[in-house]
Order: sequence, then C-alpha cells, then structure tokens
Amino acid sequence: MRVDLRSDTVTQPSLAMREVMSQAPVGDDVYGEDPTVNSLEERVAEMFGKEAALFTPSGSLANQLAIRMLVAPGEEILAEANSHIVRAELGAAATFSGITTRTWTATRGQFLAADALTLARPDSGPFLVSTKAIAVENTHNFGGGTVQSLDEIKTLHGEAQKMGLALHLDGARIWNAYVANGVEFKEYGKYFDTISVCLSKGLGAPFGSLMLASKENIIKARIWRKRYGSGMRQIGIIAGAGHYALDTNIALLHHDHRRAQYLATRIHAIAPSLVDPKNVQTNIVGLDLAGLNLTAAEFAEMAKPEGVLISALGPNFARLVTHLDIDDAGMEYAADVLTQALERALVAK
Ligand SMILES: *Cc1c(COP(=O)(O)O)cnc(C)c1O
Repeated sequence: MRVDLRSDTVTQPSLAMREVMSQAPVGDDVYGEDPTVNSLEERVAEMFGKEAALFTPSGSLANQLAIRMLVAPGEEILAEANSHIVRAELGAAATFSGITTRTWTATRGQFLAADALTLARPDSGPFLVSTKAIAVENTHNFGGGTVQSLDEIKTLHGEAQKMGLALHLDGARIWNAYVANGVEFKEYGKYFDTISVCLSKGLGAPFGSLMLASKENIIKARIWRKRYGSGMRQIGIIAGAGHYALDTNIALLHHDHRRAQYLATRIHAIAPSLVDPKNVQTNIVGLDLAGLNLTAAEFAEMAKPEGVLISALGPNFARLVTHLDIDDAGMEYAADVLTQALERALVAK
C-alpha cells in the first residue's frame, strides 16, 4: 500500500471532478470572457463578503498580488516567523515588490494580536521603514494546521484600524478552519482587506487559488497578474474543478481531521513527546522529534520502503497531512508503519 502524507496537495482529481471540468463552459479569461472563471470569482467573493475576486494559478501568487496591493516598495509587512509568506514563497515579497518583512513568533503559529502590534511602526517618517500591513495565516501550516482565534483577529483588526494598517489573511486552508471551529467565511471578510484561498489543498483541485479584495484592488491585481505572466485563457476547465471542490469537498474535510486525530493518537501512545493529540485541530500532524535520537529525515527514510511518505520539514520536525486520497484503511496502515518505525528507533536507542 502507498500512503502519501507529505501534503494535501498530492491528491489526484477525482473522476467526478474531471467530468465537471470536461463540461465547463470556457472563454478567454484575459478578455474576462470565461464564464466559469467569472462565476467562480463571484461565488468566492460572495462567500467571504468581499467585493471581488481574482483567480490565480497558485496560492503564492494570490498572496503576493494581495500584499502588493497593500504595501508599496520600501514599506513593510509583518508576519509570523514560520508563516508561508515568510518561509515558503522564496522571498517573493522582496523580489517582486520591494517589500521588507519583520516577524514575530507564535507558539504553534497561533498569533496573539499584541505580539504583532508591538512591532508595528506606521508612518515612520523619512528615516525608518513604515509598516503598512499585517498578515495572518489560518490555518497555520508549519504550526501544525492550527486555527486562529477569532477574538485575536477582532483585537488585531480594531487596533490595526486605529493605526491605519491593512490586514491580509493567508487562508490557503481556511476551509479546514471553518470545519474545525465553525466561524463563517463572511466573518473573515469583515476583518481582512485581502484574503487568499486555495482550491488545491484539502479541496482536491489540480491547482487554483483566489485572491479576494475590493473591486479597485482586484482591477489593479488583474494587471499585475498579467504582468507576472499569469494571464490565463480557457482556464474555466480548472475553475470548474474549483466549483466542484466547493460543492462537494468542504463537506468531506471532517474525515481528514478525524484521520489526523487518529494518527496523532496512535503516535502519542508510542512516543508521547512527539505530539499531543489535543494540539491537532485539523488535517496536519506536526511531530517534534527533538526528544528522540532520530532526525525527521531518518524517520521519513524508515517509513518510505513501506510506502508511507511523510515530510521532514526541519531537522527535528516531521509533518503528516491527511487528505482526500487517504481512506480509513490507508490511515490505519500508515499508523501501523509509523508506530512500528518509532518502536524500532526507541529500542535501538
Ligand atoms: C500551500 C499554501 C499556500 C500557497 O501555495 P501554492 O503552492 O503557491 O499554491 C499559501 N499559504 C499556505 C499557508 C499554504 O499552505
């Protein structure tokens, strides 16, 4: 058996999704004439209570276009030190937009408004960098799929407004946050100026993300998307997959969460220091191997010959991500393989 827990991006588009894709009406989206793209943009903007949306090939591009609308070259954005924007977009904010970044750290990525706000220096005058925006990631990927507190978001929003700062939400997995705590998508639309969402993670589309913002900023971002070479033509075949994903797959995410909880519980039973199942809120299980005589890369190598793939994201940090293509049998098999590998490693030690 092969169970790929490296990421929820590895899913194969299902037959039903491919059928919807094959039937999607299409047009030239650079001309704004793809009906399936247009309806997806309207649909997702409406879901989050934002004025407009822009379809992008990746979540990174959606984040980068959004940030670009909020922060000018030579100005800064604040973000958590292990956020995707800071660590996994290869310096795009600096490279493309001349934006600098300062970071705060948060346990398991769950931010406290005060930690972000103490860094903020809006209107810094002619000698120091001015803060223009703060980014929040929900759920937090490297934090282990953790969900952000709505109270902290409200506090951040209230203070940011007084300081004239904009807020961006990296909502690549906002769907998982919704399933975990039930906070409505529209609620986020009230507090964040720009939002990015991904259809290609837990929702299982082959690719596709959206950036949400005011009408004015979407018009501008559309120009930048083309400038970056991402003006797409009959891309409704992919937007069709996005519609299918929203129609069908949000409702399935709770299975991913249940399976992640199961994996965490089985691993905890063998090696309690690796993960506390109470901290596993969605579909990501972060494993802290620091207490063991085993690196994350070694652990991944032990599981691989048995067909179980996991990510080694740091020397001592491994990540397991459940998704649409892992069923209960795969979950049990992976739990067996991983716990047996841990038992061998513990005995060897
Ligand atoms: C996956 C992800 C993105 C976007 O990634 P792409 O691979 O560029 O689509 C953005 N933010 C977070 C938190 C992610 O996990």
